[in-house]
Amino acid sequence: MSYQANEKRYDRMLYRQVGQSGLKLPAISLGLWRNFGDDSPLTTQKDLILKAFDLGITHFDLANNYGGGAAERNFGRIFQDHLKPYRDELIIATKAGYQMWDGPYGDGGSRKYLMSSCDASLKRLGLDYVDIFYHHRHDPETPLAETAVALDSLVRSGKALYIGISNYSAADASAISDIFKALKTPFIINQMKYNLFEREFEDELKAVTLNEGIGNISFSPLAQGQLTNRYLNGIPEDSRISRKGALTDAVTFEHNLAKVRELQAIAEARQQTIAELAIAWQLRDSGVSSVLIGASRVSQLEENVKALDNLTFTDAELQAINAILKMTR
Ligand code: NDP
Repeated sequence: MSYQANEKRYDRMLYRQVGQSGLKLPAISLGLWRNFGDDSPLTTQKDLILKAFDLGITHFDLANNYGGGAAERNFGRIFQDHLKPYRDELIIATKAGYQMWDGPYGDGGSRKYLMSSCDASLKRLGLDYVDIFYHHRHDPETPLAETAVALDSLVRSGKALYIGISNYSAADASAISDIFKALKTPFIINQMKYNLFEREFEDELKAVTLNEGIGNISFSPLAQGQLTNRYLNGIPEDSRISRKGALTDAVTFEHNLAKVRELQAIAEARQQTIAELAIAWQLRDSGVSSVLIGASRVSQLEENVKALDNLTFTDAELQAINAILKMTR
């Protein structure tokens, strides 16, 4: 039977403005970095994507290199078979910036690489355009203006609606924002690593994005699963660590687990799980437009969206969380 989206899909999700743009993203978005390559069953991928949409998750984040291109291909198949009638309800993003094919034109930030990569992504996805195209990382060997003009061209040629950057320093983000302003490029979003354990975003980048009117979407908000109950009783065989190897060095992992055990009491008092607390903690701040989670099973999606039920924190809770996180290594 053909897929019919849940009629109540917009009832519970929150949609938040991306910086000063007119675009709204779901407070929780789904990323396809892990679990959507050819090593994961397509039926599980389909179940995750369709469940996400049924929960109001309208935004799916990809990149040229996720699964070596397989994630875009697999998403494209699922889109073609099930989601095509809903194209105007979806925000589909992809990126280029890391090594993708052999030779000097398959990596970095040159016009040559970005234009070819976007065309290849559209082909794999089976789409005419993506909603957001990101430069995945700053390339010190390419002038910023070349990268910016190439991204601007993608918008002018109808291949992307909006532009984003990822993994840029505060100084590089500010510099490329100036170029985009001169070009009148719809540059609206920054994608950065941000979670309770990794808060470098707060140092300088956050102020730059707020100042420039750019929205933020955080990746690895659960520290790849460490900020959940996943590892509290050992390393499960079907977990990311078992499948992909260590997430961090063994000492940091143990320290992180100790912090999670302490955070659990705060989460329980808030009637939340650790994952819900970790997501809610980010969304309490309007500077984070969306939290970009990963998932290996539908139950994780269902749990994570429950974070929306309680996004406010008392000062005492925030202080207690900070005190735990400052535990010395
Ligand atoms: P998360 O920190 O959300 O980690 C996701 C993993 O955590 C899942 O695969 C699952 O692990 C575990 N998990 C999720 N929810 C739960 C839960 N409720 N209970 C227990 N475990 C849970 O994010 P990711 O690191 O996956 O990153 C998310 C997205 O961000 C990526 O898909 C990608 O789109 C983007 N990203 C962007 C980067 C960039 O450079 N711009 C870099 C990295 C990511 P398990 O598989 O073990 O079940």
